[in-house]
Amino acid sequence: MFLGHFGLGLAAKKAAPAVSLGALFAAGQFADLLWPTLVLLGVEQVRVQPGITAVAPLDFVSYPYSHSLLMLCVWGVAFGGIYVALRGARAKAGVVLALLVVSHWVLDYVSHRPDMPITPTGAARVGLGLWNSVPGTLVVEFALLGFGVAVYLRTTRARTRAGAIGFWSLVVFLVIVYLASTFGPPPPSATAVAWSAQAMWLLVAWGYWVDRSRS
Ligand SMILES: [Zn+2]
Repeated sequence: MFLGHFGLGLAAKKAAPAVSLGALFAAGQFADLLWPTLVLLGVEQVRVQPGITAVAPLDFVSYPYSHSLLMLCVWGVAFGGIYVALRGARAKAGVVLALLVVSHWVLDYVSHRPDMPITPTGAARVGLGLWNSVPGTLVVEFALLGFGVAVYLRTTRARTRAGAIGFWSLVVFLVIVYLASTFGPPPPSATAVAWSAQAMWLLVAWGYWVDRSRS
């Protein structure tokens, strides 16, 4: 899942208007921000295997720390708690951020084949396998993004032209990156997958920047 995580981050603005879109993106994508670094360190493993699902050519061999349900609950509580402590934010903002961190597992559970761990050490792997259907995946991804964009636009207003242009260029960029990775050639190696996934940090920064020029 890619666009769906950003869709929920955008929609969460309604529940936590004081929290920047950058922080909401970082929470919803926390698992995928942590994952490439763990892959590059050799702590977690992924293999490129074209055809393993219709959508993503990736075999997630092991990702207990970034993608198990239990660890995402732990990361969620830590993320929300640290945000509230550092920013002096309301508890509700912390709860929204924690739920976003955990929502990553739920959306990935829907998309992935049964490779999602429940606990970091247990053998159980689950996944509903939406990625076995290209049309089904596109409908869910774009529906979640569209929902998020609609809620965010109703919740915030651009104060400057940059606020409008920055927002729409972010949406277009997300869609282009998504379509290119879905319909483009498979990545050459697991290391290439991990390095390109590090670009996710750019989207967090973009979220902060867009949010600053909207109210
Ligand atoms: Zn993920």
